[in-house]
Amino acid sequence: MHRYFRRFALFVLAAVFALAAAKAQPAIQPTVDITQVPAAAQPSAHYDANAATEAYLAMIPPAATARSNAYFEGGYWLILWDFLYATLIALVLLNLRWSAKMRNLAERITRFRWLQTLIYWVEYTLLTTVLGFPLEYYEGFVREHKYGLATQTFWPWMGDEGKGLLVGLVMGSIAVVGLFAIVRRLSKTWWIWGSIATLAFMIVAVAIGPVFLQPIFNSPKKLADPKITVPILSMAHANGIPTNDVWQIDASKQTTRMSANVSGIGNTMRITLNDNLLRRGSPQEIQAVMGHEMGHYVMNHIPKSIIFFLVVIVCFFAYLRWGLAWTLARWGAHWQVRDITDPAVLPLVFLLAGIFFFVLTPVMNTETRTQEKEADMFGLNAARQPDGFAQAAIHLSEYRKMRPGPVEEFVFFDHPSGYDRIHSAMVWKGENLELFEKPPATPPAQ
Ligand SMILES: [Zn+2]
Repeated sequence: MHRYFRRFALFVLAAVFALAAAKAQPAIQPTVDITQVPAAAQPSAHYDANAATEAYLAMIPPAATARSNAYFEGGYWLILWDFLYATLIALVLLNLRWSAKMRNLAERITRFRWLQTLIYWVEYTLLTTVLGFPLEYYEGFVREHKYGLATQTFWPWMGDEGKGLLVGLVMGSIAVVGLFAIVRRLSKTWWIWGSIATLAFMIVAVAIGPVFLQPIFNSPKKLADPKITVPILSMAHANGIPTNDVWQIDASKQTTRMSANVSGIGNTMRITLNDNLLRRGSPQEIQAVMGHEMGHYVMNHIPKSIIFFLVVIVCFFAYLRWGLAWTLARWGAHWQVRDITDPAVLPLVFLLAGIFFFVLTPVMNTETRTQEKEADMFGLNAARQPDGFAQAAIHLSEYRKMRPGPVEEFVFFDHPSGYDRIHSAMVWKGENLELFEKPPATPPAQ
């Protein structure tokens, strides 16, 4: 292993420095800034939702549309390249028996099986991080800069990558050691208990996310500006959300993207908006986005997603049980992987997981997109800011394709398309035009 390992490490290090020395491409500044409601979207006797939608879409310069389409469609291919590249790495680890050699090394270091598993996980994570780095660098750094979405220079970006690696080492160790303990003790029912343990682990990860994980990378803090918080909290209280806090996060440290989210579960659940939204969004737009996020909160989308994941995880473990038995019977000896209790089986587990979730891409996206559509409709009703919502959709078009085909939307979109979002907003506006008409002058007292 050492010979291969050293040669590969040298190669990758050389590649890293060559890439780091290469200059990042100049940022393309986001172009569209919307503060005006177009004429066709103004309330009138002949208001038409389709015309209003088209008027909003016409505000995006064709060059900006071409750029965001190229960025987003490139993302479709990345799903494929990520899958193929990860598969290749797993096959290299198995067929060159690097996985078996990493296990042998762990066995030489200690006789405790759980510690062998932990050491194997550290070896595995470091090696796959190094092997996966070229694609990670292209995807997370070069490409983001090319499209003007990244704000970090190389070393701060590497710093975040390093932190991510540490989080993966720590969280992964706990999960992997726990799962192997289950597989070793429960040779018949491991796949059921493994599913439950995985779900429990996910719930813990979601719960500690906003409090312990997010602060590793950014500094979330409570939003203090009453001009922004008063209308948001009023909307929250009107919709049964018993909070007095809205959070903001310094996402501009990494990206130009505008966004907001709901994170956590139970006591850690919170709504966060990022500083790009605060800086570039109009008050109406911020309210529209917050209405959407409150939809996720009120409709319990996080607990519902967890139940959905439980189904997916049980299916995955059932498939894994079959897949591991089938492949190990054929190639286990060649790979020098003994059985499913051997940590050297991990690359195979990730290979099978890669295939499973690659095939499931449209299913996972559709589950998310369905919730996002619900949150859109909730948000329109709660915030009553259809123009703000249309403006947000246009801001988000900096990194999302606006008008996909129906199959494209079904397979690749985890949110409704920009077109769909503006159209929903304009239909909603058409049905509530009286909210936007100027009140008639009060008749003079008799
Ligand atoms: Zn959402």
